[in-house]
Amino acid sequence: MEKINIEEIFGENVFTPAVMKEYLPKDAYAEVMQVMEHGGELSRETANVVARCMKDWAVSKGATHYTHWFQPLTGFTAEKHDSFITHPDADGKMLMEFSGKELIKGESDGSSFPSGGLRATFEARGYTAWDITSPAFVREDATGVILCIPTAFCSYKGEALDKKTPLLRSTQAINEQALRIVRLFGNKTATKVTPCVGAEQEYFLVDREKYLKRYDLIYSGRTLFGASAPKGQEMSDHYYGSIRERIGSFMKDVNIELWKLGVTAKTQHNEVAPAQHELAPIYESANVAVDHNQLVMETMRKVAERHGLTCLLHEKPFNGINGSGKHNNWSLSTDDGFNLLDPGDTPNANIQFLLVLACIIKAVDEHADLLRQSASDVGNDLRLGADEAPPAIVSIFLGEQLDDVVRQLVETGEAKHLINSEVLATGVDTLPDLLIDPTDRNRTSPFAFTGNKFEFRMVGSADSIGDPNVILNTIVAESFCEAADILEVADNFDLACHDLIKKYLAEHQRIIFNGNGYAPEWVKEAARRGLPNLPTMLDAVETLTTDKAVSLFEKFGIYTKPELESRKEVLYETYSKTLNIEANCMVEMASKQIIPAGFLYMKDLAGAVKLANNVGVSDRAARNILKEVTELLENLEDALEALKKALAEAQMVKDTKEKAFTYRDQVKICMDALRQPADRLETITDKSIWPFPTYEDLLFEV
Ligand code: ADP
Ligand code: MG
Repeated sequence: MEKINIEEIFGENVFTPAVMKEYLPKDAYAEVMQVMEHGGELSRETANVVARCMKDWAVSKGATHYTHWFQPLTGFTAEKHDSFITHPDADGKMLMEFSGKELIKGESDGSSFPSGGLRATFEARGYTAWDITSPAFVREDATGVILCIPTAFCSYKGEALDKKTPLLRSTQAINEQALRIVRLFGNKTATKVTPCVGAEQEYFLVDREKYLKRYDLIYSGRTLFGASAPKGQEMSDHYYGSIRERIGSFMKDVNIELWKLGVTAKTQHNEVAPAQHELAPIYESANVAVDHNQLVMETMRKVAERHGLTCLLHEKPFNGINGSGKHNNWSLSTDDGFNLLDPGDTPNANIQFLLVLACIIKAVDEHADLLRQSASDVGNDLRLGADEAPPAIVSIFLGEQLDDVVRQLVETGEAKHLINSEVLATGVDTLPDLLIDPTDRNRTSPFAFTGNKFEFRMVGSADSIGDPNVILNTIVAESFCEAADILEVADNFDLACHDLIKKYLAEHQRIIFNGNGYAPEWVKEAARRGLPNLPTMLDAVETLTTDKAVSLFEKFGIYTKPELESRKEVLYETYSKTLNIEANCMVEMASKQIIPAGFLYMKDLAGAVKLANNVGVSDRAARNILKEVTELLENLEDALEALKKALAEAQMVKDTKEKAFTYRDQVKICMDALRQPADRLETITDKSIWPFPTYEDLLFEV
């Protein structure tokens, strides 16, 4: 077997600081490092030098083109390739060029990206601007080798049209406020606090040939029809199960591609549902983690194709088994090496940690609605708050030890006692005794403290992790700011800090919930506590422009009111468009595939009845099945007509918001109604007639 040398390939396609050091003159290198670490702008000369070196390096890797790689509000990445080619000289010889100007700023033609009204077609100009804090890389695929430059995407007037701009703004905000906090505790060396993120990515793999036979998977990334297979995930035999050869070779190639791109792919395993898997990289700065998560998704899709597979990133590709999410692990680290979320061995005595924790608890309680919104997308509606899914209520899990500390603080103002980590006695002499983690796992909590980080588990598998991190950074920046405002002017810091921790915890304790978040009783309990419950994506859209949200975003310069309005518009539009595609696809599959298959089977059955009568045997079985098939076809036809009617009505609605709600409250119900008789028909129809691969075929025969 071919040997993989990770050290050699890791980052080989990335324009890393090490590569820059090699290619750039000393002073240019120093300037780039300064801007990367502490902001500011490169001089025109340095930008030119960097561009030339970047091009030389990329060309040495075989690159022919460059692209400004950006993340519009579609949630995907976008790119337009330009070759390095320039006018041939008098001798007809071509020189490859790439200037500082081209590196730093690009213009995206066309107003074809969602802007929610921020950009009318007559002022369609959009600009991409180099994000020096995320490294450029070359990507190799069928297009050739392309130099990709991570960029932010803004309108002519500087309004954010993408996921990166607000993220960078929020990173600045939390840096500023977190520095105030660490200074209060005597840290004079830190110059920067960076939010760090590790995103665990779940996905499904199905056979590509079977995938291509299903219009629903092709058009919407999920099955719109399909009866459950005889087996689901009830045996728990897939989770952490041994990885099949075909999947293993896919994972190996994904890892290699990602390592080359400098993505620290670390953990891989089978997930709970059949055909479901997970990949987790090592955490890094939030900005790079967001970019890298896009690369992870893109790489999975491409590599899957090479292996005759299709990677489904949709949040709920199959009914009846688990959907996919993305766990966004978040912490704050200083450039002098501290993680502000690290409790140390004695969290009860670690006042800085307790203040940080209290601020985060306050932030999440005050803005639970925004956090929930940040994790919503159309697909995630099927995974959160729906029939088969946990409720979409934000709460915090702290684990027994911290929960006890919080309780003592609230009750007495002091946490004298610490429930200690116990030793787990295995009872086997040859096995080591293990120290139990003070935070146990609670897989049902949407926002769980896991040792030295918070894990936000609501995020959908197909979605960008940009928005959730914008919200986390911003809401925590706000509570840090409030705390710093009070503590910086306090006469007695220790006393004031102590009082503040107690106050925050007492006021926001309601958001802490250590029980089973999937239990129906929790919905009632959460309502009693006054926690917001926003079951669907559309319920959460308006949270973006409440007075509370607007003043938060404006205070820290994250979004302006028009930017927020535009984002709402895009969300409503996206919802309607997605449902429109799904509904159209159902109409097509029902009319052209499922109903015709039903008729074929009817014909067979009618033939069987006739035959039975001719030869003089009982026709009972054939007659019964024929009756049921006929009835199901009638139901199907009725449901199909109802869906067509609802769809036509929704398409007529003009107002974006009203339209989205019409899709949710009228079209979606008809879609569900159409699925029922179709799935029932599938279970009784001759398999050789059924027009597309079933759940069994997709989930168990990869
Ligand atoms: P678990 O979910 O089992 O606790 P890990 O500890 O392996 O799993 O972490 C899962 C993800 O969290 C990984 O992507 C990991 O890099 C990331 N992670 C670990 N520590 C931190 C941290 N301090 N800040 C942000 N992410 C982290
Ligand atoms: Mg985890």
